[in-house]
Amino acid sequence: MPELQAPAASPETLLREHFGQQLQNNLPLATVTSMAIGGPARFFLQAHTEADLAAAIRIARACQLYWCVIGDGSNLVAADAGYPGLIIQNRIHAFAAIDTSLTVGAGDHLSEVVLQADRIGLAGLEKMAGIPGTIGGAIYGCAGAYGQEMRDHICEVRYYNASTDRFNHLSVSECQFGYRDSTFKRHKDWIISQVVLDLAPGDPQHLLNTSQDLIQSRQRKFSLDLKCPGCYFKNIRLDQLDPQNLLPTFLSRIDSSQITYGKVAAGYLLEAVGAKGTRVGGVEVSHHHGNLIVNTHGTASAADLLALVAQLKDRVRQRFGVDLQEEVQYLGF
Ligand SMILES: Cc1cc2nc3c(=O)[nH]c(=O)nc-3n(C[C@H](O)[C@H](O)[C@H](O)COP(=O)(O)OP(=O)(O)OC[C@H]3O[C@@H](n4cnc5c(N)ncnc54)[C@H](O)[C@@H]3O)c2cc1C
Repeated sequence: MPELQAPAASPETLLREHFGQQLQNNLPLATVTSMAIGGPARFFLQAHTEADLAAAIRIARACQLYWCVIGDGSNLVAADAGYPGLIIQNRIHAFAAIDTSLTVGAGDHLSEVVLQADRIGLAGLEKMAGIPGTIGGAIYGCAGAYGQEMRDHICEVRYYNASTDRFNHLSVSECQFGYRDSTFKRHKDWIISQVVLDLAPGDPQHLLNTSQDLIQSRQRKFSLDLKCPGCYFKNIRLDQLDPQNLLPTFLSRIDSSQITYGKVAAGYLLEAVGAKGTRVGGVEVSHHHGNLIVNTHGTASAADLLALVAQLKDRVRQRFGVDLQEEVQYLGF
């Protein structure tokens, strides 16, 4: 192995040489996350091509600079202190359909891909209309809604392996998808760049009607200016609870009608412990939904949020004996 040499220039010089004015210093992460919380990223840039993505990560690694790739920040909570390294926002776009095979970029917006697929008569994504965020973020967290999930139609995922500096492919089984889970959560150095989906033929008008209905229903639940990251906690999966101890205790404390497809909604548990309307500083649990934490006036801090989260977890643990786990991802903590 050749010895690693210290770079001759600072990360800022190297990044600016490559990205010029695209490189931003101290961009507040509150401006690129739907929760609108988070201090400055030391460096911020958008990668529009695979070459730019790899180059930015290569420079960061050579300079031993922290780095992280984000999409639209719709499932992210960033630290008040910000991020001491390089944030790369994925903006890699692609859209090519051949028969029922659809190739999209990881930086494409899921909701736009859904509508485009509807229009050309490709079925399988229509119920995910209106989920905010990019394709990359949706694969990372196996996003889904109304019985459809990202994993359902994936053929192959192309990603950049930062450790080997190579692009590779994973099949759907290699992605190890689970409920809001994928192998990418365990390999933070694997960055999704492109995806091939295998969809089914469908009637464009019917698909568009389904998507438009769900978009309208979402708009009634989440107003466009609501500062939140969607559902904060994952639902409780019964198959993940210890069958000897925890499961029987938990089952004895809930209403069995609340079990759907082997899961119990975190919102139900939170509402049962009186979470709705609970407030710490600028963050509050929605009055309409126990699993929705909102930065009410856009002035909340991550410290407020973490205090509220700790309080909610504590209440649920005491009443039901289970630990809520975050669906949202933390950045810079
Ligand atoms: C109003 C609202 C409603 C929502 N409704 C739903 C819903 O119904 N169903 C649902 O599943 N989710 C929902 N969400 C959550 C969110 O939309 C999804 O989790 C979304 O897929 C996140 O995509 P993103 O691009 O914003 O990812 P980000 O929030 O930017 O990132 C999330 C994580 O993914 C990682 N990541 C992002 N891009 C890549 C990449 N290219 N390669 C590797 N890792 C990457 C980031 O590092 C981070 O850890 C909702 C959110 C909001 C605000």
